Amino acid sequence: MMVTTHNLGFPRIGGKRELKFALESYWNGSITQSALLQTGVNLRSTHWQYQKNLDFIPVGDFSYYDHVLDMSFLLGNIPTRSIKDQDTRLDQYFRVARGRSANDEHNENSVFAGEMTKWFDTNYHFIVPEFTKETHFTLNAEHLLAQIQEAQHINPAIKPVLVGPVTYLSLGKTYGDLNKLDLLPQLVKTYAELLSLLAQRQIQWVQLDEPILVTELSKEWQDAFLYTYKHLQNDQLNILVATYFGQLQDNLEILCKLPVQGVHLDTINGFDEIQSLIDTIDANKIISLGIINGRNIWKSDLNTILDWLEPIYQKLGKRLWIAPSCSLLHVPVDLQNESKIDPQIKSWMAFALQKLDELTIIAHALKDGRTSVKQDLNDNHQAIQSRKTSTLTHNPHVRDLCKTITPELGNRNSPYTERFKIQQKILNLPIFPTTTIGSFPQTSDIRKARNQFKKGNIDFQTYEAAMHKEIALCIQQQTDLDLDVFVHGEAERNDMVEYFGEQLEGYVISQHGWVQSYGSRCVKPPILYGDIHRNQAMTLPWIKYAQSLTDKTVKGMLTGPVTILNWSFVRDDQPRSETCYQLALAIRAEVLDLEQANIKIIQIDEAALREGLPLRRSQWDNYLSWAVGAFRIAANGVKDQTQIHTHMCYSEFNDIIAAIAKMDADVITIETSRSNMELLEVFEEFNYPNSIGPGVYDIHSPNIPSKAQIIALMDKARRLIPVQHLWVNPDCGLKTRQWSEVIPALRHMVDAAKQLRKST
Ligand code: GLN
Ligand code: ZN
Repeated sequence: MMVTTHNLGFPRIGGKRELKFALESYWNGSITQSALLQTGVNLRSTHWQYQKNLDFIPVGDFSYYDHVLDMSFLLGNIPTRSIKDQDTRLDQYFRVARGRSANDEHNENSVFAGEMTKWFDTNYHFIVPEFTKETHFTLNAEHLLAQIQEAQHINPAIKPVLVGPVTYLSLGKTYGDLNKLDLLPQLVKTYAELLSLLAQRQIQWVQLDEPILVTELSKEWQDAFLYTYKHLQNDQLNILVATYFGQLQDNLEILCKLPVQGVHLDTINGFDEIQSLIDTIDANKIISLGIINGRNIWKSDLNTILDWLEPIYQKLGKRLWIAPSCSLLHVPVDLQNESKIDPQIKSWMAFALQKLDELTIIAHALKDGRTSVKQDLNDNHQAIQSRKTSTLTHNPHVRDLCKTITPELGNRNSPYTERFKIQQKILNLPIFPTTTIGSFPQTSDIRKARNQFKKGNIDFQTYEAAMHKEIALCIQQQTDLDLDVFVHGEAERNDMVEYFGEQLEGYVISQHGWVQSYGSRCVKPPILYGDIHRNQAMTLPWIKYAQSLTDKTVKGMLTGPVTILNWSFVRDDQPRSETCYQLALAIRAEVLDLEQANIKIIQIDEAALREGLPLRRSQWDNYLSWAVGAFRIAANGVKDQTQIHTHMCYSEFNDIIAAIAKMDADVITIETSRSNMELLEVFEEFNYPNSIGPGVYDIHSPNIPSKAQIIALMDKARRLIPVQHLWVNPDCGLKTRQWSEVIPALRHMVDAAKQLRKST
């Protein structure tokens, strides 16, 4: 008997972020287009070599920016605003992705970029396809076909991987009065043409990704699936429909009904559905099981997988395929690149390449028996045992502390109306108080000092002096600007989550554990492996120093437990909620230290609270209840007079406003400038009781807002929110901006606030 191994996709950015650096060099004009393309060729070739032991290697998973955008180009669905005659195709592509191409990097010749949004519940952002009544699909397959040819040189057994038509359509946004499903017949026709082209190239299998199947679908969209796959049938080519990231639930039946030759199920999220899939689907179809977690960095427990997989293999025989649960796009490339992680903890981990090795071991064990890979299985068993029993992951003190958590621990002493009065007296702020969100420009001097210190080239005293200089500069600027509540500027932080990961016990930081976030941007999530403990204050000395320089109030600045959790690779041996509560206790301790040191305002950022929402609405309440619970534990241990701020940089609160109110932060600062304050309507309707700082200008753009623009926005805001509850601040932190942009923007903001005060 045999079992087929395959992969759904490989990380494209490169083990040392080669693609990132090539892209950015191309965009700033320091390398040519052909050099960039050569980097692409090299990376693809390396990645296919890595995967050559698999029975099918993926093609089409590589992308110069985003594979959903590639799909839009493949289908000829490009927004007309971005078509410029002088562009090469690649420049046109970047123009859609970034609003500008390489040749107009430094001039005004830009158009607005395609909207970006998160790919399901991952931190990967795709460019949202755009649909209008005029949308017309025309196949542009030459790039995909060229890559297929490239791959076939390396390994003839390839499997093109494409976003499936229904998912593609459902993720897009529409302009004007259009029912997206009206475009389906045309779209399906174009996909069918594409499949015919693939069939002509001796391709046996194509993988169509339809992760939309793990979300709640209306009857219309379920029917769209049946229609689509009925019309995609092709005698020469087998279709594998891939689902991942969640459970199929009532879409399982739909999936089984599709006239395709194979389906892929994510067994990490859909373990309970394996049996019903096997029972429901036609007995001639391939079942691909995603058995290795493509979303985390832990070794799989291979023996346990074999325990349940062997009987399935006995039953399915060659109908069984195995793969990672989803594309490996969401994990770093190679653990071997890491030289600084504690060897024991490293022995518990697996990045993309190690995950493919695990897959191969499982395949051998199935085909030739476990004894054929005895050594590998033993090694794996030892690593799994070592992690299970390690004292590194279990801190009895933390465990005991967690047991003492009660909901009351998350209650403030008095309701907001009373706190408001007490805080007013102490803080003595004008109406329309002005502040910023935390970070100030991260200049090259700052980065240099941090890097030097990290490398051990400078000692702590020198580093501290450099940071103090930056803090002092920041305080001076805020004094000159006459802001009301100051911040220290976050010069010491490389990243709002990694900074805390570096200091908390229970975390390791990788050197090269980068994962693509969007385009050339990558994130390096810190790795939470054990019980979380704060050994010493993490932010206190910096904040205290800043406060010592001024009579104005300096806000203490922390990242909240939910955001730390959602932006880390976290342990999978306990529920996320438990880990989140441990983080909450650590942040709570820091909050109390800050309060003790007479810091009167403390901001706890929860930028990632919303993105942790489960894919299915039915699970939202559960998530929100523990996430909000954890925030309350972190924040609400303070006295009435201490003012808690939180910050969220998004603008969708409609469906979570009750949970936001439950957090009970005294002040919430949010992104609103781009939505023209419209989002405040939700707060008004809900009668949101606490204070709000609606962002008055978009920090993502270099544009400097005028005083009049800011006044106009705040005038809108005061019609919706009681004046005494309004703050004036930018949308988000200023770290990516230049001082030359920040100073005039904030000056206009402060002037606007002063004028608003006069007219109230
Ligand atoms: N305090 C952080 C900053 O100013 C907040 C960043 C964020 O919300 N993404 O950078
Ligand atoms: Zn923000």
